[in-house]
Amino acid sequence: MKFNSLVIHGGIDGDEHTGSVNVPIYQTSTYRQEEVGKHKGYEYSRTGNPTRFALEQLIADLESGYKGFAFGSGMAAISSVLMMFNSSDHIIFSDDVYGGSYRVVSKIFTNLGLEHTFTNTSDIKNIENAIKPNTKAIYIETPTNPLMKLTNIKEVAKVAKNNNLLLIVDNTFMTPYLQKPIELGADLVLHSATKYLGGHSDLVAGLVVVNTEELAERLHFIQNSVGGILGPMDSFLLIRGIKTLSVRMEKHCQNAMKIISWLEQQDFVTHIHYPKFDRNEDAKSQMKHYGGMISFDVKNTDIQNKILSNLHVITLAESLGGIETLISVPSRMTHASIPSETRKQLGITDTLIRLSVGIEDSDDIIRELDITNK
Ligand SMILES: *Cc1c(COP(=O)(O)O)cnc(C)c1O
Repeated sequence: MKFNSLVIHGGIDGDEHTGSVNVPIYQTSTYRQEEVGKHKGYEYSRTGNPTRFALEQLIADLESGYKGFAFGSGMAAISSVLMMFNSSDHIIFSDDVYGGSYRVVSKIFTNLGLEHTFTNTSDIKNIENAIKPNTKAIYIETPTNPLMKLTNIKEVAKVAKNNNLLLIVDNTFMTPYLQKPIELGADLVLHSATKYLGGHSDLVAGLVVVNTEELAERLHFIQNSVGGILGPMDSFLLIRGIKTLSVRMEKHCQNAMKIISWLEQQDFVTHIHYPKFDRNEDAKSQMKHYGGMISFDVKNTDIQNKILSNLHVITLAESLGGIETLISVPSRMTHASIPSETRKQLGITDTLIRLSVGIEDSDDIIRELDITNK
Protein backbone atom coordinates (compact mmCIF):
# COMPACT_ATOMS: atom_id res chain seq x y z
CA MET A 1 0.00 0.00 0.00
CA LYS A 2 1.12 3.53 -0.69
CA PHE A 3 1.32 6.07 2.13
CA ASN A 4 -2.04 7.82 1.57
CA SER A 5 -3.80 4.43 1.80
CA LEU A 6 -1.65 3.26 4.68
CA VAL A 7 -2.78 6.13 6.95
CA ILE A 8 -6.33 4.80 6.55
CA HIS A 9 -5.78 1.04 6.25
CA GLY A 10 -2.40 0.44 7.90
CA GLY A 11 -1.90 -1.40 11.18
CA ILE A 12 -5.07 -3.26 12.12
CA ASP A 13 -7.96 -2.25 9.87
CA GLY A 14 -11.39 -2.43 11.56
CA ASP A 15 -12.61 -5.33 13.67
CA GLU A 16 -12.78 -8.88 12.37
CA HIS A 17 -15.32 -10.04 15.00
CA THR A 18 -18.08 -7.60 14.01
CA GLY A 19 -17.05 -6.06 10.70
CA SER A 20 -16.86 -2.62 12.36
CA VAL A 21 -14.82 -0.38 10.03
CA ASN A 22 -13.16 1.21 13.07
CA VAL A 23 -11.00 -0.44 15.69
CA PRO A 24 -13.12 -0.70 18.87
CA ILE A 25 -12.15 1.11 22.05
CA TYR A 26 -11.23 -1.75 24.37
CA GLN A 27 -11.90 0.11 27.59
CA THR A 28 -10.65 -2.64 29.88
CA SER A 29 -7.85 -3.10 32.38
CA THR A 30 -7.78 -6.89 32.38
CA TYR A 31 -8.73 -10.00 30.34
CA ARG A 32 -10.39 -13.30 31.26
CA GLN A 33 -8.15 -16.38 31.25
CA GLU A 34 -9.68 -19.80 30.50
CA GLU A 35 -7.02 -21.55 32.52
CA VAL A 36 -4.00 -20.05 34.20
CA GLY A 37 -1.91 -18.60 31.38
CA LYS A 38 -4.42 -19.58 28.65
CA HIS A 39 -5.71 -16.37 27.05
CA LYS A 40 -6.12 -14.58 23.73
CA GLY A 41 -2.81 -12.71 23.89
CA TYR A 42 -3.82 -10.09 26.44
CA GLU A 43 -3.46 -10.32 30.22
CA TYR A 44 -3.38 -6.77 31.57
CA SER A 45 -3.71 -3.42 29.77
CA ARG A 46 -0.42 -1.90 30.88
CA THR A 47 1.30 -4.80 29.11
CA GLY A 48 -1.01 -4.72 26.09
CA ASN A 49 -4.37 -3.40 24.92
CA PRO A 50 -5.92 -4.14 21.49
CA THR A 51 -6.79 -0.49 20.70
CA ARG A 52 -3.30 0.64 21.67
CA PHE A 53 -1.84 -2.29 19.75
CA ALA A 54 -3.70 -1.22 16.58
CA LEU A 55 -2.19 2.26 16.92
CA GLU A 56 1.28 0.83 17.58
CA GLN A 57 1.05 -1.33 14.44
CA LEU A 58 -0.16 1.67 12.42
CA ILE A 59 2.72 3.98 13.36
CA ALA A 60 5.22 1.15 12.75
CA ASP A 61 3.80 0.76 9.22
CA LEU A 62 3.86 4.51 8.56
CA GLU A 63 7.48 4.89 9.71
CA SER A 64 8.61 1.68 7.92
CA GLY A 65 9.77 0.31 11.28
CA TYR A 66 9.68 -3.04 13.05
CA LYS A 67 7.43 -2.14 15.99
CA GLY A 68 5.63 0.84 17.50
CA PHE A 69 4.96 1.85 21.11
CA ALA A 70 2.39 4.32 22.43
CA PHE A 71 2.89 6.44 25.54
CA GLY A 72 0.87 8.92 27.56
CA SER A 73 2.80 11.91 26.18
CA GLY A 74 5.73 12.77 23.94
CA MET A 75 7.83 13.29 27.08
CA ALA A 76 6.83 9.85 28.42
CA ALA A 77 7.97 8.38 25.08
CA ILE A 78 11.27 10.31 25.15
CA SER A 79 11.91 9.45 28.81
CA SER A 80 11.21 5.76 28.14
CA VAL A 81 13.71 5.77 25.27
CA LEU A 82 16.33 7.46 27.47
CA MET A 83 15.74 4.72 30.09
CA MET A 84 17.12 2.23 27.56
CA PHE A 85 20.56 3.56 28.50
CA ASN A 86 22.62 3.04 31.64
CA SER A 87 24.19 5.54 34.01
CA SER A 88 27.55 6.80 32.66
CA ASP A 89 26.44 6.21 29.07
CA HIS A 90 26.80 9.34 26.94
CA ILE A 91 24.35 10.71 24.35
CA ILE A 92 24.88 13.52 21.82
CA PHE A 93 21.85 15.81 21.33
CA SER A 94 20.94 18.53 18.82
CA ASP A 95 21.45 21.82 20.66
CA ASP A 96 18.05 23.39 20.09
CA VAL A 97 15.88 20.39 20.86
CA TYR A 98 12.35 20.83 22.16
CA GLY A 99 12.46 22.66 25.53
CA GLY A 100 10.95 19.74 27.45
CA SER A 101 13.54 17.35 26.01
CA TYR A 102 16.32 19.72 27.06
CA ARG A 103 14.80 19.90 30.55
CA VAL A 104 14.38 16.15 31.05
CA VAL A 105 17.96 15.50 29.92
CA SER A 106 19.63 18.33 31.82
CA LYS A 107 17.54 18.22 35.02
CA ILE A 108 16.49 14.59 35.45
CA PHE A 109 18.54 12.07 33.46
CA THR A 110 21.77 13.86 34.33
CA ASN A 111 20.96 13.18 38.02
CA LEU A 112 20.62 9.51 37.15
CA GLY A 113 24.15 9.58 35.72
CA LEU A 114 23.37 9.80 32.00
CA GLU A 115 25.99 12.01 30.34
CA HIS A 116 25.12 14.33 27.49
CA THR A 117 26.55 16.83 25.01
CA PHE A 118 24.38 19.38 23.25
CA THR A 119 25.85 20.44 19.93
CA ASN A 120 24.82 21.87 16.58
CA THR A 121 24.21 18.60 14.74
CA SER A 122 23.70 20.42 11.41
CA ASP A 123 27.49 20.24 11.13
CA ILE A 124 28.61 16.59 11.08
CA LYS A 125 32.05 17.58 12.43
CA ASN A 126 30.44 18.70 15.71
CA ILE A 127 28.98 15.21 16.12
CA GLU A 128 32.27 13.48 15.30
CA ASN A 129 34.09 15.72 17.80
CA ALA A 130 31.56 14.98 20.53
CA ILE A 131 31.91 11.18 20.34
CA LYS A 132 33.50 9.71 23.48
CA PRO A 133 34.35 6.11 24.45
CA ASN A 134 31.06 5.87 26.41
CA THR A 135 28.86 7.46 23.72
CA LYS A 136 25.90 5.23 22.94
CA ALA A 137 23.54 7.31 20.83
CA ILE A 138 22.94 10.42 18.75
CA TYR A 139 19.60 12.16 19.27
CA ILE A 140 18.49 14.69 16.69
CA GLU A 141 15.57 16.85 15.68
CA THR A 142 15.38 18.01 12.08
CA PRO A 143 14.09 20.62 11.56
CA THR A 144 14.82 21.91 15.05
CA ASN A 145 12.43 23.83 17.21
CA PRO A 146 12.09 26.81 16.91
CA LEU A 147 14.95 27.73 14.56
CA MET A 148 14.26 25.12 11.84
CA LYS A 149 17.88 24.04 11.49
CA LEU A 150 18.28 20.92 9.36
CA THR A 151 20.47 17.89 10.00
CA ASN A 152 21.27 15.42 7.23
CA ILE A 153 19.86 12.16 8.62
CA LYS A 154 21.70 9.87 6.15
CA GLU A 155 25.05 11.47 6.91
CA VAL A 156 24.52 11.19 10.70
CA ALA A 157 23.32 7.58 10.29
CA LYS A 158 26.63 6.74 8.60
CA VAL A 159 28.61 8.20 11.51
CA ALA A 160 26.33 6.37 13.96
CA LYS A 161 26.87 3.01 12.18
CA ASN A 162 30.64 3.47 11.96
CA ASN A 163 30.82 4.16 15.69
CA ASN A 164 28.25 1.59 16.78
CA LEU A 165 25.82 4.24 18.07
CA LEU A 166 22.04 4.29 17.92
CA LEU A 167 20.48 7.12 15.92
CA ILE A 168 17.30 8.51 17.50
CA VAL A 169 15.22 11.04 15.53
CA ASP A 170 12.38 13.14 16.95
CA ASN A 171 10.17 13.33 13.85
CA THR A 172 7.35 15.35 15.44
CA PHE A 173 7.68 18.37 13.13
CA MET A 174 7.70 16.37 9.90
CA THR A 175 5.59 13.26 10.53
CA PRO A 176 6.23 10.22 8.31
CA TYR A 177 4.23 11.95 5.56
CA LEU A 178 7.10 14.40 5.04
CA GLN A 179 10.16 12.50 6.30
CA LYS A 180 10.98 8.82 7.00
CA PRO A 181 14.04 8.66 9.29
CA ILE A 182 14.21 4.84 9.47
CA GLU A 183 14.46 4.63 5.66
CA LEU A 184 17.36 7.08 5.94
CA GLY A 185 19.19 4.94 8.52
CA ALA A 186 17.75 5.89 11.93
CA ASP A 187 17.20 3.19 14.58
CA LEU A 188 14.45 4.82 16.64
CA VAL A 189 11.88 7.45 15.70
CA LEU A 190 10.04 9.51 18.30
CA HIS A 191 6.86 11.53 18.10
CA SER A 192 4.92 13.88 20.23
CA ALA A 193 1.69 12.60 18.68
CA THR A 194 0.01 15.48 20.50
CA LYS A 195 1.02 17.54 17.46
CA TYR A 196 0.49 16.65 13.78
CA LEU A 197 -0.34 12.95 14.21
CA GLY A 198 -3.29 13.69 16.50
CA GLY A 199 -3.75 16.88 14.55
CA HIS A 200 -6.79 18.31 16.34
CA SER A 201 -5.34 19.67 19.62
CA ASP A 202 -7.54 17.27 21.56
CA LEU A 203 -5.11 14.79 23.09
CA VAL A 204 -1.62 14.33 24.52
CA ALA A 205 0.31 11.26 23.36
CA GLY A 206 3.75 9.98 22.40
CA LEU A 207 4.88 7.30 19.94
CA VAL A 208 8.14 5.46 19.33
CA VAL A 209 9.05 3.24 16.39
CA VAL A 210 12.09 0.96 16.50
CA ASN A 211 13.71 -0.82 13.56
CA THR A 212 14.80 -4.14 15.13
CA GLU A 213 13.40 -6.93 17.28
CA GLU A 214 16.18 -6.43 19.82
CA LEU A 215 15.26 -2.74 20.34
CA ALA A 216 11.57 -3.70 20.45
CA GLU A 217 12.21 -6.14 23.30
CA ARG A 218 14.22 -3.57 25.24
CA LEU A 219 11.60 -0.85 24.82
CA HIS A 220 8.66 -3.13 25.53
CA PHE A 221 10.33 -4.14 28.79
CA ILE A 222 10.57 -0.45 29.75
CA GLN A 223 7.04 0.40 28.58
CA ASN A 224 5.64 -2.45 30.69
CA SER A 225 7.93 -1.84 33.70
CA VAL A 226 7.70 1.94 33.92
CA GLY A 227 4.12 2.04 32.67
CA GLY A 228 3.79 5.40 30.87
CA ILE A 229 1.27 3.95 28.43
CA LEU A 230 -1.45 5.59 26.33
CA GLY A 231 -5.04 4.69 27.27
CA PRO A 232 -7.50 3.05 24.85
CA MET A 233 -9.68 6.16 24.33
CA ASP A 234 -6.73 8.34 23.36
CA SER A 235 -5.32 5.51 21.22
CA PHE A 236 -8.62 5.49 19.31
CA LEU A 237 -8.60 9.27 18.89
CA LEU A 238 -5.05 9.14 17.61
CA ILE A 239 -5.89 6.45 15.03
CA ARG A 240 -8.79 8.67 13.95
CA GLY A 241 -6.50 11.70 13.63
CA ILE A 242 -3.89 9.81 11.62
CA LYS A 243 -6.48 8.85 8.98
CA THR A 244 -6.41 12.44 7.66
CA LEU A 245 -2.66 13.00 8.10
CA SER A 246 -1.87 13.21 4.37
CA VAL A 247 -4.54 15.76 3.47
CA ARG A 248 -3.85 17.85 6.55
CA MET A 249 -0.07 17.94 5.96
CA GLU A 250 -0.59 19.00 2.32
CA LYS A 251 -2.73 21.95 3.42
CA HIS A 252 -0.39 22.92 6.32
CA CYS A 253 2.51 23.06 3.84
CA GLN A 254 0.55 24.98 1.19
CA ASN A 255 -0.62 27.58 3.70
CA ALA A 256 2.90 27.91 5.14
CA MET A 257 4.32 28.67 1.68
CA LYS A 258 1.70 31.40 1.13
CA ILE A 259 2.48 32.96 4.52
CA ILE A 260 6.22 32.80 3.80
CA SER A 261 5.72 34.70 0.52
CA TRP A 262 3.80 37.37 2.41
CA LEU A 263 6.29 37.60 5.30
CA GLU A 264 9.14 38.06 2.81
CA GLN A 265 7.54 41.33 1.68
CA GLN A 266 7.07 42.83 5.16
CA ASP A 267 9.74 45.21 6.39
CA PHE A 268 8.96 44.62 10.09
CA VAL A 269 10.23 41.05 9.57
CA THR A 270 14.01 40.82 9.99
CA HIS A 271 14.56 37.10 9.54
CA ILE A 272 12.49 34.07 8.54
CA HIS A 273 13.42 30.58 9.75
CA TYR A 274 11.97 27.97 7.39
CA PRO A 275 13.60 24.84 5.92
CA LYS A 276 13.11 26.21 2.39
CA PHE A 277 15.87 28.75 3.10
CA ASP A 278 18.40 26.19 4.38
CA ARG A 279 21.53 25.96 2.24
CA ASN A 280 22.07 22.25 2.89
CA GLU A 281 20.44 20.86 -0.26
CA ASP A 282 21.07 17.23 0.79
CA ALA A 283 19.28 17.74 4.10
CA LYS A 284 16.43 19.50 2.27
CA SER A 285 16.02 16.59 -0.10
CA GLN A 286 15.19 14.22 2.80
CA MET A 287 11.89 16.04 3.27
CA LYS A 288 8.94 15.88 0.89
CA HIS A 289 7.85 19.47 1.64
CA TYR A 290 9.05 22.00 4.20
CA GLY A 291 6.27 21.60 6.79
CA GLY A 292 3.84 23.84 8.61
CA MET A 293 6.13 25.48 11.17
CA ILE A 294 7.54 28.97 10.61
CA SER A 295 9.60 31.12 12.97
CA PHE A 296 10.36 34.74 12.24
CA ASP A 297 12.09 37.63 13.93
CA VAL A 298 10.57 41.09 14.05
CA LYS A 299 12.24 44.48 14.62
CA ASN A 300 11.21 44.94 18.25
CA THR A 301 8.93 43.68 21.02
CA ASP A 302 6.36 46.45 20.36
CA ILE A 303 5.76 44.99 16.91
CA GLN A 304 5.75 41.52 18.44
CA ASN A 305 3.05 42.52 20.94
CA LYS A 306 1.03 44.20 18.19
CA ILE A 307 1.02 41.00 16.15
CA LEU A 308 -0.12 39.07 19.20
CA SER A 309 -3.03 41.46 19.85
CA ASN A 310 -6.55 41.25 18.43
CA LEU A 311 -6.36 37.64 17.34
CA HIS A 312 -9.46 35.68 16.32
CA VAL A 313 -8.48 33.11 13.69
CA ILE A 314 -5.01 32.70 15.19
CA THR A 315 -4.73 31.50 18.79
CA LEU A 316 -1.94 32.54 21.17
CA ALA A 317 -0.98 29.18 22.67
CA GLU A 318 1.80 26.70 23.18
CA SER A 319 1.82 23.49 21.15
CA LEU A 320 1.64 23.01 17.40
CA GLY A 321 0.50 20.72 14.65
CA GLY A 322 -3.26 21.16 15.06
CA ILE A 323 -5.72 22.22 12.37
CA GLU A 324 -5.94 25.67 13.97
CA THR A 325 -3.15 28.23 13.59
CA LEU A 326 -1.24 28.82 16.82
CA ILE A 327 1.21 31.63 17.52
CA SER A 328 3.76 31.69 20.32
CA VAL A 329 6.81 33.50 21.67
CA PRO A 330 9.45 30.78 22.31
CA SER A 331 11.57 32.90 24.68
CA ARG A 332 8.61 33.47 27.00
CA MET A 333 6.65 30.26 26.42
CA THR A 334 7.95 26.93 25.05
CA HIS A 335 11.64 27.71 25.63
CA ALA A 336 11.36 29.70 28.87
CA SER A 337 12.96 26.83 30.82
CA ILE A 338 16.21 27.25 28.82
CA PRO A 339 18.55 29.75 30.56
CA SER A 340 18.45 33.12 28.75
CA GLU A 341 22.21 33.02 28.06
CA THR A 342 21.87 29.64 26.35
CA ARG A 343 18.83 30.89 24.43
CA LYS A 344 20.81 33.87 23.13
CA GLN A 345 23.70 31.65 22.04
CA LEU A 346 21.26 29.46 20.13
CA GLY A 347 19.64 32.44 18.41
CA ILE A 348 16.27 32.19 20.16
CA THR A 349 15.85 35.96 20.44
CA ASP A 350 13.23 37.74 22.56
CA THR A 351 11.67 39.08 19.34
CA LEU A 352 11.20 35.64 17.77
CA ILE A 353 7.67 34.54 16.91
CA ARG A 354 6.72 30.94 16.12
CA LEU A 355 3.77 30.08 13.96
CA SER A 356 2.14 26.68 13.69
CA VAL A 357 0.25 27.21 10.46
CA GLY A 358 -3.22 25.67 10.53
CA ILE A 359 -5.49 24.63 7.71
CA GLU A 360 -7.80 27.68 7.75
CA ASP A 361 -7.94 29.99 4.74
CA SER A 362 -4.47 31.48 4.39
CA ASP A 363 -5.94 34.95 3.65
CA ASP A 364 -7.51 35.02 7.11
CA ILE A 365 -4.24 34.04 8.77
CA ILE A 366 -2.28 36.66 6.84
CA ARG A 367 -4.80 39.41 7.65
CA GLU A 368 -4.25 38.80 11.37
CA LEU A 369 -0.46 38.93 11.04
CA ASP A 370 -0.69 42.26 9.26
CA ILE A 371 0.09 44.98 11.80
CA THR A 372 -1.33 47.68 9.52
CA ASN A 373 -4.77 46.21 10.33
CA LYS A 374 -4.29 46.65 14.07
C1 LIG B 1 5.74 18.75 22.03
C2 LIG B 1 7.02 18.11 21.69
C3 LIG B 1 7.56 17.12 22.50
C4 LIG B 1 6.92 16.70 23.82
O1 LIG B 1 5.71 16.05 23.61
P1 LIG B 1 4.45 16.11 24.63
O2 LIG B 1 3.41 15.35 23.89
O3 LIG B 1 4.11 17.55 24.84
O4 LIG B 1 4.88 15.47 25.89
C5 LIG B 1 8.74 16.52 22.09
N1 LIG B 1 9.35 16.89 20.95
C6 LIG B 1 8.86 17.84 20.15
C7 LIG B 1 9.59 18.20 18.90
C8 LIG B 1 7.68 18.49 20.49
O5 LIG B 1 7.21 19.46 19.69
